[in-house]
Amino acid sequence: MSGVLVRNVDWGSGRGDLRCSADRITEVGSDLGQLPGEEELTGAVAVLPGLHDHHLHLMAMAAHRASVDLGPERVASPGDLARVLDGAATSVGTTGLWIRAVGYDATTGGELDRWTLDLMVRDRPVRVQHRSGHLWVLNSRACALVGLDGDVPTGVERVDGVATGRIVDADDWLALRVPRQGPPDLAAVSRRLASFGVTGVTDCTPVHDAADLEVLAAAVGSGAVVQRVMVTGSIGLAGADSPHGLELGPVKLMVGDLAYPSVDGLAAAMDEAHGHGRSVAVHCASRIAAVLAITAWEHAGPRPGDRMEHGAVLPLDLVARLARLGIAVVTQPGFLYERGDRYLVEVEPDDVPHLYRCATLEAAGVGVGGSTDAPFGPDDPWLAMRSAVSRRTRTGARIGPDEGVDRPRALGLFLSAPAAPGGPPRTVTDGGPADLVVLDCTVAQALEDFDGRHVMATVARGRVVHRG
Ligand SMILES: [Zn+2]
Repeated sequence: MSGVLVRNVDWGSGRGDLRCSADRITEVGSDLGQLPGEEELTGAVAVLPGLHDHHLHLMAMAAHRASVDLGPERVASPGDLARVLDGAATSVGTTGLWIRAVGYDATTGGELDRWTLDLMVRDRPVRVQHRSGHLWVLNSRACALVGLDGDVPTGVERVDGVATGRIVDADDWLALRVPRQGPPDLAAVSRRLASFGVTGVTDCTPVHDAADLEVLAAAVGSGAVVQRVMVTGSIGLAGADSPHGLELGPVKLMVGDLAYPSVDGLAAAMDEAHGHGRSVAVHCASRIAAVLAITAWEHAGPRPGDRMEHGAVLPLDLVARLARLGIAVVTQPGFLYERGDRYLVEVEPDDVPHLYRCATLEAAGVGVGGSTDAPFGPDDPWLAMRSAVSRRTRTGARIGPDEGVDRPRALGLFLSAPAAPGGPPRTVTDGGPADLVVLDCTVAQALEDFDGRHVMATVARGRVVHRG
């Protein structure tokens, strides 16, 4: 098959048939003749530009699929956590195999270290990842296998010289010491994203090794990943070429939640990235991180395309400084739904009104791009849009209701261009990219429901990559 003919749809500025050849929309009109080999899509009502998720992690999403899920749907208490891990240990069979579990949260699963894990699983190595992605906890068997009592990097927690099994932000070190799982199933991740109408993603992993980007490039090259993929990479790769098939985005700078860099160090990293012609994406999940990043930007000077990731806690004075700098914020409204009930218990009451702002940012002139941060947040962009409007948690509580945006703006969070999150929404035009969400309903209805089941088909780079 080559080419797609979408019949009789409303694309915002017109209505009729749309022809896609190669990766562009090449003809619009009514009653276009079907060309040989062209795939015809009938019965649709409207189309939208393909959604772009401005911040997620493809490799981690693939690893997540092959892991034991300790997320809130399955674990509401320490007893649940023990049961789920024990069940996994039993079903894995062979005692030598590692158990990799993800989505752990101390508020539901209880505090974990090697000894509490040993009480649940003793006869095989277990590693449990905190839902934030920043902490791993290993049982004693796993500690012994990775050599945790020997010469280890910072980030390995010790009490009286003994490793507790807790490892913070040392993924590269750990990855070299645990057996590789099978090849990551990036195709399954890509199919799931396509089912939501996602045709482009920005992978915000601060990759240190160019070889890790080659895995993504190969997946795009083979067609296993059908989306357009923009990558970030760490400052060490700021001057590296982008592997074929991937688009080079901003450099990802981490302002850690545990160890903060100096303002000078951060400004120097910004300068370095800018010197390579790259913008920066700065991870800011706390008030302090945001202060540091903004101060560094005021020293280094902003570059178009610079952005703050999360902007989880932004008091109004910081909002004004962001606006003056022209820095966009890439937000994750889905966290309000998924984690909001915990925020209301755990976050400093002073910080709650500043959580994941949206409307205030836009009113101040700060661009806001939408994303899911999957697998650390729910991967469904329609859920994120719903949360951007309602600001509701899983149990229905509301966080910062005044930060809610109207429905078209919620959709717009996922329509800005990859290089300009928070910029104007892309539109469907003759000659434009053949990246489309094909809807079984009107756009008004899709905005009313914000539900991926209205995605009848997805066209990415001129090919039908999903049919509902
Ligand atoms: Zn992230």
